[in-house]
Amino acid sequence: MNSNLPLPGLDRAHIIERDEHPISRKNIAHSALKVLYRLNESGFHGYLVGGGVRDLLLGNTPKDFDIATNATPEEIRQLFRNSRIIGRRFKIVHIRYGREIIEVTTFRAHHNALNEIDDAAPRRQIRGLDSAHSSSGMILRDNVYGDIDEDALRRDFTVNALYYTVDHFRVLDFSTGMDDLRARQLRIIGDPVERYREDPVRMLRAIRFSAKLGFTIEEATQRPFRELAKLLKSISPARLFDETLKIMTGGHAVATFAQLSEYHLGHFLFAPTLKALTQADDTWCKLVDLALANTDKRLAAGKSVTPAFLFAALLWPVLNTRLGQLSNTDGNQHQHFVQAANQTLAEQLEYTAIPRRFTAASREIWELQYRLQRRNKRSIESVFNHPRFRAAYDFLLLREESGEELDSLGQWWTDFQIGDTKRKSEMIAAVSKPRKRRRRRSKREPPGVT
Ligand code: ATP
Ligand code: MG
Repeated sequence: MNSNLPLPGLDRAHIIERDEHPISRKNIAHSALKVLYRLNESGFHGYLVGGGVRDLLLGNTPKDFDIATNATPEEIRQLFRNSRIIGRRFKIVHIRYGREIIEVTTFRAHHNALNEIDDAAPRRQIRGLDSAHSSSGMILRDNVYGDIDEDALRRDFTVNALYYTVDHFRVLDFSTGMDDLRARQLRIIGDPVERYREDPVRMLRAIRFSAKLGFTIEEATQRPFRELAKLLKSISPARLFDETLKIMTGGHAVATFAQLSEYHLGHFLFAPTLKALTQADDTWCKLVDLALANTDKRLAAGKSVTPAFLFAALLWPVLNTRLGQLSNTDGNQHQHFVQAANQTLAEQLEYTAIPRRFTAASREIWELQYRLQRRNKRSIESVFNHPRFRAAYDFLLLREESGEELDSLGQWWTDFQIGDTKRKSEMIAAVSKPRKRRRRRSKREPPGVT
């Protein structure tokens, strides 16, 4: 154990003392404080870092608390019974407190530290070594442990590279994080082109944080976007799905979407939707806008949102474009729907690997549109009792709100839900009376409209 040893790299920090910053322990989760104290008491150095420190300095409530330390994953694992080592791109330790998880990472050096091994006088001994690059300069594995100053400089944005310690309650800044925070701007650390080549997802992160925090993206930080956007093609659909989910469920989906288009990055996540929207009428554009706005509103009100609903909305223009194309081919309406839904989902999966549970639910929401519209006497009750009824009903309201003409169908289902048993029976009886069937079918009509 390295008890009482001074922490290498600390001398490079600009130190912000307790009375010069607003962070109070009151605003930090107990579990995170526990981890920080336990690390320090065990001879290591633990720091709160990343979004947690950034958000606390801004007076916002952090989403979660990340901790960085000079203890190795194995050492952390030994200190905390309730921990496990995980890691796809790099090893991290998850410490669980009830439903809360504190993520702890070991200080990592920038991958260039690899080169230092060949230097006659390496700056420091490198404790762990496991790093790899693709031919384009992208980091594939990133497990070179380093000192705190190196850990700071391999982070993405200056405002994400601030450290808070319970030792004298200081904030440490190794770049220009505090200045940029005051100027409310996102600045990438180091050479922008090099940093995006290492990890193109940083471009998406810039946009996500800018929308979330209301920060501008500093000029040199945004300049390479247009030229380097194509590097996003090399990112796995699984990682792009994770990022997409953060974009859509971060509470600022509308702003992020607008910025993704502004910077020409949206095509690497939502190409099918954007393409369909350029050929679509206002209704679909409005439906997508409303779905994003509703998501932000729901999250602001502390309600939950489901990715299945969002993808159902985002892909609605694609699904309907496909249905239009299939309308003159062989097969009945249901077969066309199944085919169009399959194609739509398959196409989107090339960009973002949406887990199956979500695609299955999106498909059900779409399919229920068909049944909600048909109001078949025998199936009204079963539609109503369908586990996905509520989402499908909300989706129906969204379609009406975006201007689709559905003969007050939303109101019908609203009345049906609030009606007592007698009223429900009357409503079922009324719709099942033979109606004059109007054969009106346009290319744009949703699945199952007859
Ligand atoms: P959020 O509020 O979304 O959690 P965050 O800044 O905490 O924001 P995380 O994705 O939780 O973002 O990452 C934690 C920290 O890890 C970041 O603040 C940043 O310092 C670092 N980091 C994350 N992803 C990258 C990346 N792709 N490149 C460099 N540093 C990164
Ligand atoms: Mg975080």
